Amino acid sequence: MDHLEEIRSKLPIEDLVGSYIQLKKAGRNLKGLCPFHNDSRPSFTVSPEKGICWCFVCNTGGDIFKFIQLIENVDFRESVKILAQRTGVKLPAFRPEAQDERMRTVAANRAAVKFFAETLENSKNHYGYFLNRGLTPETIEKFRLGFAPDSYTALKDHLLGAGFTEKELLLAGLISQRSIADKSTYDRFRNRLTFPIYDHQDSPIGFGGRIVAEGEPKYLNSPDTPTYAKSLVIYGLNWAKETIKKKDLAIFVEGYMDVIACHQAGTENAIAVSGTALTPGQLKLIKRYTGNIAFAFDQDAAGMEATRRALELVSGGDFNVKVIIVPEGKDPDDCIRESPEKWEEAVKNAVPVMDFYFEYAKKQFDISDLEGRKAMLQFMLPLIKMYPLEMERNEYLERLALILKTDAKVLWRDLKKTGVKAPAQSEAAEAPKAQAFSREEYLLGFIFEHPEFYPTVADNLIDSIPIDSLTEKFYKTCKRAYNSASTLDLNAVFGELSPEEKERTNLYRLLIEEQYPDFSEEAAEREIANLVASINRQNLFKVQKEYENQIRLATDPGEKTLLLNRYNEILKLKTKIN
Ligand SMILES: [Zn+2]
Repeated sequence: MDHLEEIRSKLPIEDLVGSYIQLKKAGRNLKGLCPFHNDSRPSFTVSPEKGICWCFVCNTGGDIFKFIQLIENVDFRESVKILAQRTGVKLPAFRPEAQDERMRTVAANRAAVKFFAETLENSKNHYGYFLNRGLTPETIEKFRLGFAPDSYTALKDHLLGAGFTEKELLLAGLISQRSIADKSTYDRFRNRLTFPIYDHQDSPIGFGGRIVAEGEPKYLNSPDTPTYAKSLVIYGLNWAKETIKKKDLAIFVEGYMDVIACHQAGTENAIAVSGTALTPGQLKLIKRYTGNIAFAFDQDAAGMEATRRALELVSGGDFNVKVIIVPEGKDPDDCIRESPEKWEEAVKNAVPVMDFYFEYAKKQFDISDLEGRKAMLQFMLPLIKMYPLEMERNEYLERLALILKTDAKVLWRDLKKTGVKAPAQSEAAEAPKAQAFSREEYLLGFIFEHPEFYPTVADNLIDSIPIDSLTEKFYKTCKRAYNSASTLDLNAVFGELSPEEKERTNLYRLLIEEQYPDFSEEAAEREIANLVASINRQNLFKVQKEYENQIRLATDPGEKTLLLNRYNEILKLKTKIN
């Protein structure tokens, strides 16, 4: 038995989690208040049988090691040390390969940073783009901005030539595999402006890539890799951390360009989350430097939602929170380009978050009539309810009472009736649930929970085209096992999966258990058929668009014919499923 297994066998997950939060039995599982978001109903599920814990609201959790990493804000190695000590398991000598793997990933990213930066210098147009956006050559250099050429192999060829292996580049997320059937690899970032993402210790661990012309997606990020966990990384923190400490304030803006423009204008404590909403892990990281946060998000619907979600998360973590109101509802980047003074002014005049909401609500709702006052009340109460101290609540209720020309006592009664999750808010809480697990992952949950239905999947899921890369291996392994035994033997599947992948299958099963309690077999079968149909539609659509793009760009007639043939096959498949 290896030492990880030994620790696992000595420390049931319910004991570990139970030593941090109170757990109550709920069917086969246990539940408690989630320690990773401001939870009002027990959302944190612990499955003793599967050895994992998970919150389906903020989508956080994992096995005992992951739980320790999250709650103690440590890396995997540190979590093993902590739990080894707790269980009295002796650790073998430290394994150098893992460290080596991380170093190679960082080295590959560093070489890519250099390559993209040099390509940018040699491309007047793209360099000019940044200059036009108001950046100085010094800023472009400082943030190591770059350009990924419009080629499927430029970076790959360059890095292979520099001594990296294909496997290392895949692991670093710099290249991608075409599909299950087609193992050939290609550059992930093509014809994009590149923004290297560093961890707070200044190691390049990923990229954001902005498209130059029209196209989707506007921003493409590196995938999560062993060294790049989006939920734990803050863009700009490596450049901002000293100033954050000095000024005792961290300013969250929305995008890479906002961060860079802020720094150039002297606001060197600006940072951004990239590719995720703000997470508890990121807040913990910030807490090392300051207890004061200001948000300068857009005041459009998405920005308001981001602010509110962030506020909900932050209110449990004893931060002082302010909002920077950017004049005329612009984003910081635009504002700075127009007038750095106006931006500076806005930063100086950051308002406490409730002041911001009061101002916003006064503008948003017409309080001269009853309907408007009701709407304002419904908007404000859940926000007020987020504050843990009665004193704070009282102050805001009195302020609200004054505006609504009513009595604060009446509002106290309304407040008691208000769930912390108001309608709009519960949407915000539900939203990540829908996105956090893909259709492919739901389907895997059903497959692992009900392998007897797998033949339906095998017969109907179109997998001759690229499917979701995250779940590809699971599907491939299931299919192989099924083809060789004409029934799906899960033990055969598990034999081919790594321990992490096996744990993932447990999470998928827990997902089904939690999201579809008391599901009948017929309902499961129906749901499986629905999922397969929508995955097929989604994948075919994606491939169709990709081919259309490639055909448009193809210059070689032979290649064009080849692409057209494949494109026609896709169209044929599409008519079949419709
Ligand atoms: Zn949670």
